[in-house]
Amino acid sequence: MSLIVQKYGGTSVGSIERIQAVAARVAQSHKQGDQVVVAVSAMSGETNRLIGLAKEIEPQPAAREMDVLVSTGEQVTIALLCMALHKIGIDAKSYTGSQVRILTDNSHGKARIKEIDGHKMQDDLDAGRVVVVAGFQGSDENGNITTLGRGGSDTTAVALAAALNADECQIYTDVDGVYTTDPRVVSTAQRLEKITFEEMLEMASQGSKVLQIRSVEFAGKYKVPLRVKSSFEDGPGTLISLEEDDLMEKAVVSGIAFNRDEAKLTIRGIPDQPGVAYKVLGAISDANIEIDVIVQNVAKDNSATITFTVHRNDLSAAHKLLNQIAKDLGAIEVEADDAIAKVSIVGVGMRSHAGVAAKMFEVLAAENINIQLITTSEIKIAVVVEERYLELAVRALHTGFGLDAPD
Ligand code: ASP
Ligand code: MG
Repeated sequence: MSLIVQKYGGTSVGSIERIQAVAARVAQSHKQGDQVVVAVSAMSGETNRLIGLAKEIEPQPAAREMDVLVSTGEQVTIALLCMALHKIGIDAKSYTGSQVRILTDNSHGKARIKEIDGHKMQDDLDAGRVVVVAGFQGSDENGNITTLGRGGSDTTAVALAAALNADECQIYTDVDGVYTTDPRVVSTAQRLEKITFEEMLEMASQGSKVLQIRSVEFAGKYKVPLRVKSSFEDGPGTLISLEEDDLMEKAVVSGIAFNRDEAKLTIRGIPDQPGVAYKVLGAISDANIEIDVIVQNVAKDNSATITFTVHRNDLSAAHKLLNQIAKDLGAIEVEADDAIAKVSIVGVGMRSHAGVAAKMFEVLAAENINIQLITTSEIKIAVVVEERYLELAVRALHTGFGLDAPD
């Protein structure tokens, strides 16, 4: 007998029919003899609808009341799902986050889970019941309702799985797994059987938005095997777990991630002196602007150039700041460019293989794509290119690293 946590997202519970389909799926696992805990999202569109209602009254409602409001979406789903389970003869019981209790800190709208009491759930499971828990919510030390941030039901599911020491946490969604790249860009993209937590984090933070990033971090930290599956069709999905020992059998590159949300800023002709990079980038991060890629270079005349990328939404604020810094430092010029995109190849196999970067550059060269910036980590190589070459670059790399599905 295994203990499984299943999470169903908004589209999977988007209508009464869909909720009944979820009940049937849960019943199937339950009848196989598994103990099942289900975490659910609000019905699709519901969280947005609730936020819309609030904004009709006040653009910046009190965060505490906002959490009271948006947490109702999931409460609707848990009740309906339990009713659907009862209807087909399955004993089931619903819990809101605070009933469980999922204890969080008090940062409304982006609360972090501190502790989960698994006792009540375990008692229900041992009595043969299915336990249905509202995702995305918890309560703080004083009993105030909190929410975990958009997409937070994924994190609830993983946290429940960790607390109950579950054998697997299954995330049911509208895609049948994690792909080698976005199938809308590369039609020959393939579903991955397996991917490591580390790879998934690189893929996700680069824009493959199957899972909330925090839930993957959480799963990695507590070693909870995660499986992404479709709630619309049967299939094995993609297993996200710890690194396999047998790296030799693994492809060098597991996937190609990309991101069009970034913009690039360059400051040229600054002094090559201690403290200059701090002055430039410190001011940007003090303004709470996240920086991604950073490249610095020093010319023969001892003047330095720093190029970095920020989210496109932050470009104009960062540009203004940089102009100010440029004046203070006597820089030659500042340049901003938002017609860029980042493409990354990701794979733990890179650790044990040489020449992966060279291969990547060779593939891009063959397509005549100019590389503007390069950045690497142990399991990722990312380049920034002109945005109009993004799709070409992704396709070429997908083929170049042997990821295309056989036809
Ligand atoms: N309902 C919440 C949202 O839309 C949480 C979730 O679906 O994971 O963000
Ligand atoms: Mg979601």
